[in-house]
Amino acid sequence: MADDDDAPVKAHKVEKVSRPPRMSPREEMALAKSMPRGRRLVMIAKVAGVFLFAIGLEGVVTANWILAVTFLVLGTVVVLAPIRMQVTVCPKCQSRLPEGAAVCPQCGVPVM
Ligand SMILES: [Zn+2]
Repeated sequence: MADDDDAPVKAHKVEKVSRPPRMSPREEMALAKSMPRGRRLVMIAKVAGVFLFAIGLEGVVTANWILAVTFLVLGTVVVLAPIRMQVTVCPKCQSRLPEGAAVCPQCGVPVM
């Protein structure tokens, strides 16, 4: 026990990982507005699916089972539909992306 207290404390030097700076909310909004039409439709479908699911939950609360079953199933299908978009150009820096890239290698923006 006493040996541990006498030993000098050494800190390991941790290399700092350099990450690209985060986008500001304003930049994210500008990116969403400049999205290609297909990606914007997918985003709208996902948001609409959440609202459909909420209508289904309203049906559960009010014991309106036809409303509940219909909209819960519809909302789940719309939200979880495996919609994949082929993106070949980065929406932020307009550089070409390698096939299957999830993040732009030039600027680090996530690409769906
Ligand atoms: Zn980029």
